[in-house]
Amino acid sequence: MRTQIAIIGSGPSGLLLGQLLTGAGIDNVILDRVGKDYILGRVRAGVLEEGTVRLLDEARSAARLHAEGLPHNGFSLAFDGRDHRIDLYGLSGGKRVTVYGQTEVTRDLMEQREASDALTIYDAADVTPHDFDGHTPFVSYEKDGVVHRIDCDFIAGCDGFHGASRKALPKKAIRTFEKIYPFGWLGILVDVAPVNHELIYANHPRGFALCSMRSATRSRYYIQCSLDEKVEDWSDDRFWDELRCRLPTHHAEALKTAASFEKSIAPLRSFVAEPLRFGRLFLVGDAAHIVPPTGAKGLNLAASDVHYLFEGLREFYGDRSSAGIDAYSQKALARVWKAVRFSWWMTTMMHRFPDTGDFDQKIQEAELDYLTHSRAASTALAENYVGLPF
Ligand SMILES: Cc1cc2nc3c(=O)[nH]c(=O)nc-3n(C[C@H](O)[C@H](O)[C@H](O)COP(=O)(O)OP(=O)(O)OC[C@H]3O[C@@H](n4cnc5c(N)ncnc54)[C@H](O)[C@@H]3O)c2cc1C
Repeated sequence: MRTQIAIIGSGPSGLLLGQLLTGAGIDNVILDRVGKDYILGRVRAGVLEEGTVRLLDEARSAARLHAEGLPHNGFSLAFDGRDHRIDLYGLSGGKRVTVYGQTEVTRDLMEQREASDALTIYDAADVTPHDFDGHTPFVSYEKDGVVHRIDCDFIAGCDGFHGASRKALPKKAIRTFEKIYPFGWLGILVDVAPVNHELIYANHPRGFALCSMRSATRSRYYIQCSLDEKVEDWSDDRFWDELRCRLPTHHAEALKTAASFEKSIAPLRSFVAEPLRFGRLFLVGDAAHIVPPTGAKGLNLAASDVHYLFEGLREFYGDRSSAGIDAYSQKALARVWKAVRFSWWMTTMMHRFPDTGDFDQKIQEAELDYLTHSRAASTALAENYVGLPF
């Protein structure tokens, strides 16, 4: 089989890139090691920047998002028993974010792809990129006991943190930067109305908490936990008690509870691999970088990578110019590092670290006080949260 772009990974970055390429008349095939139902069963991000929504519009996959997504003009920072609203809309000159689950983004992109003739190969084992340092790259995979080969012009590695693309690179060609945080997030998903119409980020002596949502009737709640916690030790009742403890009283009293239908612990990490291009192979999204979810940036960064790569590939096929793909790594990484910085800063400011001493605690409190009382500081927060331009 031959295609122009072989895309490894059918997560948001692979699907969005595939949809944009198909719309521009550039042939592509997507391969994923798991099946469609498994992919749609993953619960992940939920806050979309305007740039991400714009790209989904461009991919003609945003109709349901516009009908069902929840535009948010602000969020609350809760600490010291009080709430401080960050007016995203007012502070950022009229920008907002949209709450719409990653699962729904993925479903919309998959449906749009199925409506076109573009090919996705699910349950493909042993997907491996080859010869990307020359002019004739190809991807091999195994399906139903038979090894297949897809020849292509370029390979897009959209296969997440544990994927095959980054692993196929020679060690000396890549530099990685990593920070592991000494805690995780215990999250639950529950069909009950959110405690507040906007997100609440809470800093409390017992640890961080986040009240998020996926819709007007589905809530996503998180509490900071230590890395040795086990999900099975957390009954719903225990989770609700702990969450209430970490919220200001008026929110704790308003919190509605129900049986959770998803409960998991996610570790927090910052990770960047550089560069993002190796001959005819590009790394995109989580394959190249991971941020802690505190700043709601993971999915949005995957979208901005896709934007830069898509523009480069369109220029390559349309204008016979490689300027765009040559600049991909540098352009995408400039935005990635700003989001890595922002996510690290939000994480540091909102969590209790096991080794926080009295001095560090006072600094954290001073930072929160400054942030919520200085328009300049709140504006910087809002500008980053709604997403730096791309
Ligand atoms: C538990 C969790 C919670 C998160 N919460 C948030 C959040 O609240 N806010 C936020 O902004 N971000 C969050 N993120 C991050 C966000 O979900 C990711 O940034 C986003 O999914 C990146 O999309 P992607 O397509 O690059 O990678 P992925 O979504 O990881 O997709 C990669 C795809 O590649 C496939 N694949 C992997 N290996 C192979 C292989 N060898 N061969 C073929 N296919 C392969 C996978 O099956 C998958 O379908 C969360 C992530 C996790 C894991």
